[in-house]
Amino acid sequence: MKKCIWCRQDENKTTFNKTAHIVPQALGGEQICENVCDKCNEFFGSHFQKFPSVETIIKEAFNISRIRFLIHFGEIGKNKILTKPTSHFFDIDIKKRKFELKLAYKLQKGYQEKLCRLLKKGIYKMFLEETERRNNNALDNQYDFIREFARYDLGDYPVFYYERTSAVILTPVELVKRPQFIIGGVGLKYLVNEPCFMEFEFLGHVFSIATTRYWAIAFDNYLAKSEKAKSGFFRGFIPLNRFNDFDFALKILDN
Ligand SMILES: [Zn+2]
Repeated sequence: MKKCIWCRQDENKTTFNKTAHIVPQALGGEQICENVCDKCNEFFGSHFQKFPSVETIIKEAFNISRIRFLIHFGEIGKNKILTKPTSHFFDIDIKKRKFELKLAYKLQKGYQEKLCRLLKKGIYKMFLEETERRNNNALDNQYDFIREFARYDLGDYPVFYYERTSAVILTPVELVKRPQFIIGGVGLKYLVNEPCFMEFEFLGHVFSIATTRYWAIAFDNYLAKSEKAKSGFFRGFIPLNRFNDFDFALKILDN
């Protein structure tokens, strides 16, 4: 019997007819999380007042990076992965390599912070669904804080963004066409896998998130290990507070 990892309701109480993509389909995501009910699936895809949906924000935030990689791999144009890149939030000019947040959004007071909160919720949402797909354990109480935050807008949890020192980003074309997380401890030696934090690379970006609501106790220990593994590859990290805090346009590639 299916049970939703977000609202904990099972097939007796809710329906599971629609397909829940972990990474938005509009971003090329193909992996599915079976245990997301239709209501919760719809929630992540719905906008609220003048703010975009969690799904839209994930798509918008990472689409620019994906486009830059697709240009690099010659995958934009007729009969290619993407015919013509478009964006709701960004002005895109491929020839001029211009990818900028539209002025209308830049100027709204507090908008950057709101977009950032949605982005953080989206990153946690993808993490929990991916955890369910891989380990089938997303209903563990340990993850209640992610349900509260991503689904019910309660509390606030950190997303750390690691800034690279060089423009060398080894992202295989397959992971650009069909984006997935690369998780610490599996492939990349600069990613660490600690009990209270999870690091991952996604479309060329390295993030870490908390895997327990008590993350603060383990933070210093985590940071020491993480910084050691990243020396030479990354300058340091920033906690995401504003949408513009992360290099969504992969400007580092222009250097
Ligand atoms: Zn649900």
